[in-house]
Parts: sequence; structure tokens; C-alpha cells
Amino acid sequence: MTDKTERETVVAARAWLARRRAAGAAVVYRVAGEEIPAPGIATAGNEQAGNAPAARKETRNANAPAGNAPCIRRRTAPAQAGLFGGAPAASPAEDDDMDLGELEAAVAACAKCALRETRTKTVFGAGNAARRIVFIGEAPGRDEDLSGEPFVGRAGQLLTKILASVGFDRDDVYITNILKCRPPNNRDPLEGEVEACEAWLRRQLELIDPVLIVALGRVAGQNLLKRNASLKVLRGGVHYYDDIRVLVTYHPAALLRNPNLKRAAWEDIQLVRKLYDEEMAG
Ligand code: SF4
Repeated sequence: MTDKTERETVVAARAWLARRRAAGAAVVYRVAGEEIPAPGIATAGNEQAGNAPAARKETRNANAPAGNAPCIRRRTAPAQAGLFGGAPAASPAEDDDMDLGELEAAVAACAKCALRETRTKTVFGAGNAARRIVFIGEAPGRDEDLSGEPFVGRAGQLLTKILASVGFDRDDVYITNILKCRPPNNRDPLEGEVEACEAWLRRQLELIDPVLIVALGRVAGQNLLKRNASLKVLRGGVHYYDDIRVLVTYHPAALLRNPNLKRAAWEDIQLVRKLYDEEMAG
């Protein structure tokens, strides 16, 4: 991580921590590898199932959307910055008061990594933040880069069907990616790109305050959880991003390539539904 990116991430993280503490929340958080547990609270990391932090349910964001709040997603995408000439984006660290729409506008002007030079549109995310469930892929593909919307190609259509199979309307969950810009030729995100984009995702998740995150595919799971593990290992348990439960399942594109994986994916999405309902009921 570059010094600048690390500094931005740490400042944003500490601001978030301060707000949670001010709201009386019990907080456990990692800042640049340093764990900052609230007094008397067990440490949370990337535990597998059975080691959930005891205070996890107490750490909800008081500023999260109300249960019946309308969709936060703005249907009109903000203007894209020129490849090199746009004003530098405010980082989450520079403006902690940004709401999701303002954050999306800031991301649209972001020039923090070289992907600014090859993207057509940034792809911030879409869906209903108020439902507090977030699906995260690795990065936009060609169709997403052109449209500015996440998961709109064949893989996106399959994701819509998978969600519908357990009663989720696609527009009623929130979908985003680790990276907000498309890597050329859909290559895997580079470490520096993930680090540069991380503060945007972190702030996005802070605003949405999900009860459950679903990482779609190995690359998304590894980068979100900071674990260099196989998809098989990552699928095998419940993980944590701060205090938020994380499940890892197949990327829909993998299911298109290998339909034999669909049975396992079906079991995964049922677990997603079960854990989500548990969290919302709790
Ligand atoms: S990938 Fe992320 S950090 Fe890089 S230019 Fe796009 S929004 Fe900015």
C-alpha cells in the first residue's frame, strides 16, 4: 500500500471508529493491521463459523438507512471525469459526511490508479442499500464499463436468477465490486489497484451498514478478506469484514463456464438467505 493510500484509509477508518464510539457502539476494527478493540469486546477477524464475535450485533451504524427507506441508488449516473483532466476526487478521508450519492460522484472523478486511463465509466454499485445485504464482485467487465451498472451481462442475468431463487429481487439488494473501474481485458485486479480503491468500498459499506456481505468469486473473497486462500477454503465458512458476516460463493461467470457448479451455488445462496433472515430477525 502506498503511503498516501494507507494514510487515507487509516484516517477514514479512525473517523468511522470515532463515530461508532460516539454512538455508543462496541467496536472492533483493523487499521493497517492494527486491531482496535473497544473496551471489554472480543477481537474480531476473519473467523470461521463458530467463532463469531460476541458483540457483533451491537455494532450497527446509527446513520444506516431506515428499514423502509427508498432506494438510495441514483438512476442518473454522474458525469464522468476526463481521463486525465478531471478534478481530483475527494477521498472518503477528506469528506466523511458524503452520502452514497455524493460518494458515487466522487468515485466517478477518481484518478487514484491507472485504471482511470482505460475505463469508460466507473461502476459504483446499484440496488437498495436499505435491505442491508451487499453482493461484491471483483471488478466491472465490458458491459458494466459501458453502462456504468454492475452485473449487467450474462453473468448479471444469472445472478438475477440466483437471487430470485431465494426470494431476493435484484433491485432489492445492493451489488458492487472491489474495483470501481474495469481492468483491461478483464484481467484480475492488481494489488495496487485494490489498495487504491479500498477506501471507496470501505466508505460505501460503512454507509450501507450491511448485516451480510456475499463475495462473488475467489478474487472478490481474497481481496475483501485479505486471505490468499482457495475458493474451496473460502466457501467453507462464515468470515468477518470488521463485524459483518461474509459468505463467499461462486462468481456467476464461473457457473456459466461450468454448470456442474450450480448445485453447490444453490446450497450457498440458501445459506445466504438463511443467515440474512437470521441477522434481520436478530
Ligand atoms: S479503480 Fe478505484 S482507485 Fe482506481 S481509478 Fe477507479 S475508482 Fe479510482
